[in-house]
Amino acid sequence: MLITIKSILAETKSELVSSGIETDDFELRLLLSAATGTDIKTMPRNQMDISREQFAKFKFMISERKQHKPVDKILGYRGFYKYDFSVSTDVLTPRPDTEILVENAIKAAQNNNYNHILELGVGSGCIIISILAELKHADGEGVDISPQALQIAQRNAENIGVSSRIKLRCADWFDNDFNNNFNRKFDLIVSNPPYINTNEIKTLAREVSGYDPMLALDGGSDGLASYRRIAEIAPLLLETGGMLFLEIGEGQGADVIDIFSRQGLYYEQSFNDLSGIQRCITFKK
Ligand code: GLN
Repeated sequence: MLITIKSILAETKSELVSSGIETDDFELRLLLSAATGTDIKTMPRNQMDISREQFAKFKFMISERKQHKPVDKILGYRGFYKYDFSVSTDVLTPRPDTEILVENAIKAAQNNNYNHILELGVGSGCIIISILAELKHADGEGVDISPQALQIAQRNAENIGVSSRIKLRCADWFDNDFNNNFNRKFDLIVSNPPYINTNEIKTLAREVSGYDPMLALDGGSDGLASYRRIAEIAPLLLETGGMLFLEIGEGQGADVIDIFSRQGLYYEQSFNDLSGIQRCITFKK
């Protein structure tokens, strides 16, 4: 069937907007290109011949979007830093704000010759895989409580070509013997732990509360539970002179600095995200 792209996009847009979903032409073209298996760069702008099956696939994607499913989770991938990462509802969607942590951790690793990296709560793997892809001589370990997330991280590590330099393991950092999982120390530890107050989760956009895993969001009654635990385990896993890079939630900076300083780490620096919110905090041992 021959479709007129402009009118399909306009119809779809008004259908979504009337269901309270924000959307734009780029997003809809991305879904259409995925449904039809066409490269977005070469997809026609005016008319296109597509099969009924492809059209039904597009319609199905739109019905998912109507349920507030975010576009990356419909497509199954999301661009982050320099690569596309596979995603599913088992992992937190990589956010552009987290690229700040990645960029600065890479700089610190290059300046200090850090080669052994640990990520606590690896999820899709977007943080540690991006770092390892830049630091060709580094190796790392990534831990997550979710076996499903670890499968996605493994796939991403393979696709991006760092799987020989990363070890992924399933473990819960709240376990008393968590540190026994490791037989060495690390130069750099990175983490974007769950940091949302349990009560605030229901106030988040449905794209987040309905499709990002609770395990990756819920930071306990004050949002700081994982930081308290990481402050107990991370200093023992860090080499002297090594650094810890943490993502934090809005307004958590002073509390997080206090929590880690009490465990003997030295606060170094913080970095703001694209909206000017303090988003990444670093400590040194
Ligand atoms: N940045 C995410 C959000 O605001 C939360 C991620 C996290 O808890 N680590 O929805």
